[in-house]
Amino acid sequence: MAKVCAIFGGSRGIGKAVAQLLAKKGYRLAVIARSLDVAQTTVNQLGAGHLAFSCDVAKEQDVQNAFEEVEKNLGHIHYLVNAAGVNRDNLLLRTKTEDMVSQLHTNLLGTMLTCKFAVKSMIQLQGGAIVNIGSIVGLKGNSGQSAYSASKAGLVGFSRSLAKEVARKKIRVNMVAPGFIQTEMTAYLKEDQLKKTIPLGRFGDPQEVAQAVVFLLETPYVTGHVLVVDGGLQLQI
Ligand code: NDP
Repeated sequence: MAKVCAIFGGSRGIGKAVAQLLAKKGYRLAVIARSLDVAQTTVNQLGAGHLAFSCDVAKEQDVQNAFEEVEKNLGHIHYLVNAAGVNRDNLLLRTKTEDMVSQLHTNLLGTMLTCKFAVKSMIQLQGGAIVNIGSIVGLKGNSGQSAYSASKAGLVGFSRSLAKEVARKKIRVNMVAPGFIQTEMTAYLKEDQLKKTIPLGRFGDPQEVAQAVVFLLETPYVTGHVLVVDGGLQLQI
């Protein structure tokens, strides 16, 4: 039986690239996002055997329903990838409380909720692996991204703690911390200026992050790790 992987935020960008790579490797995928139409379009491009689901990770009932539907239709979940994320970049003094809350709810609470439900499924299978997508901004900080950075830094503590908590159940928890990656999230940035700050001289492709995610999912003796995928950006900032 092919292993089942649930990818939250799998409809676009980095999550979609992970879905494409895992589909090529023969996994059965649940592609999950708020927009069912976009998730379904992605699934249609992956070939047969994969399913799309709608879920807002910031809402516990949505997450519970999504896991029930995935398990009913695909079976227990071996792998979980948390790529659902939002940014509301602004200086702290200009950041509305609702924008702080939405970043914390989606990026941090959302991942905590999906991990909680996935761990239940993985315990039944006596093993599994989780990869949470953080950010280099969660490790280094960035002006204009304090709330986003807080949500991503929170994920580091959460992922490392959960890695310790579930290791005895043969469940591994790791993170990937990307730098600037070409997706809709970064479409508003001035790449020509910013790429001068990156040692490798360019933004990354979502496929390059996907390689790191799949490496962590499949590598059996790595847990509690944060793998930076940033073209060397962290060396400069
Ligand atoms: P995109 O905006 O391209 O894709 C975001 C994905 O998350 C979409 O599938 C979106 O679908 C989904 N999503 C957003 N909010 C929710 C929600 N509340 N519930 C469920 N799904 C949701 O972003 P990227 O691919 O660029 O980002 C993926 C992850 O990588 C994010 O966590 C981001 O913070 C992180 N990251 C990205 C970097 C970059 O440079 N691009 C750098 C560092 C980290 P829908 O809108 O339909 O819900």
